[in-house]
Amino acid sequence: MEKRAFNILEFVRNTIVKIIPENSQFFRWMTLIGLKINARKHHKPLKSLVMGVYATQHCNLNCKCCTAFSPIAEEEFLNIETYKKDMEKLAKLTENKLTSFYVSGGEPLLHPQILEIFNVARELFPKTMVNFMTNGLLLLKMPEISWENCQKNNVTISVSRYPINIDINGIKEKSNKYNVKFEYIGGDDVPVKSMWKYPLDLEGKQSLKTSYNICSQINRCITMKDGLIYACNTIAGIEHFNKYFNTNLEVLSGDVLKLHEVKKLDEIYEYLSTPKPFCRYCNRKGLILGIKYGTSKKEINEWT
Ligand code: SF4
Ligand code: SF4
Repeated sequence: MEKRAFNILEFVRNTIVKIIPENSQFFRWMTLIGLKINARKHHKPLKSLVMGVYATQHCNLNCKCCTAFSPIAEEEFLNIETYKKDMEKLAKLTENKLTSFYVSGGEPLLHPQILEIFNVARELFPKTMVNFMTNGLLLLKMPEISWENCQKNNVTISVSRYPINIDINGIKEKSNKYNVKFEYIGGDDVPVKSMWKYPLDLEGKQSLKTSYNICSQINRCITMKDGLIYACNTIAGIEHFNKYFNTNLEVLSGDVLKLHEVKKLDEIYEYLSTPKPFCRYCNRKGLILGIKYGTSKKEINEWT
């Protein structure tokens, strides 16, 4: 198993989290400053893309405040045929190069064609880091063929460190056996996850610029789905929130980019470089940190 490179920023963050309670005012204040600095870095003009897809919107866990809206999402699988077409178009635009490509969810391993998702990504982006983000629950149930596929396609397994009972040593052993890269999202010493809430403003009264300027999702959570590019997974998944709570947080034409209409990669960079109309629903300043991990009761206040 290839060792993950040491990341000084992750180390500093993980050390601070162990010392200062995440739900304290001081930690919140530091985080908002950190997000602003981080966002500036991500707001620089792009030279390459971090692109992602949601293999499924639903999940086999039910975590409160889930930013993917999975606890309230109907069963939804990435459409393989559309995915292939989108990936072909993206490969053409980028000359087969991305900074990285991630397969997320929900829980990606619930997708019956997950291996095909990896195959397509690797075939079209031979030199790009491909990883899939999982809660880890199904990893040891994966058949040998799936491990072999991860090895063949050089897919990194990225596990979120939830306080749940999974055999992490068993997973590491399997990863070693198949020479598959394994990492905890946030680094080897990342503390067990607490939840963060970025409240949605149902009235859409937030300043676009303020929300956008401290948004950590910009250029990091770009999501491709059914021929559309979304600046973030919040916009991409909001239909599930709307349906469940009978709300109408509108996604306007300026929120998305129609991939088949894009002629040059610069058009994608340009789209990502400005606040989206949907940012008016995002109360990024109202961020609540250090929420004790727990089960979702599917109540609207988990997201507002
Ligand atoms: S494991 Fe992740 S995607 Fe699934 S419900 Fe929990 S937070 Fe959401
Ligand atoms: S809607 Fe705007 S502020 Fe909210 S997560 Fe997406 S890009 Fe960030």
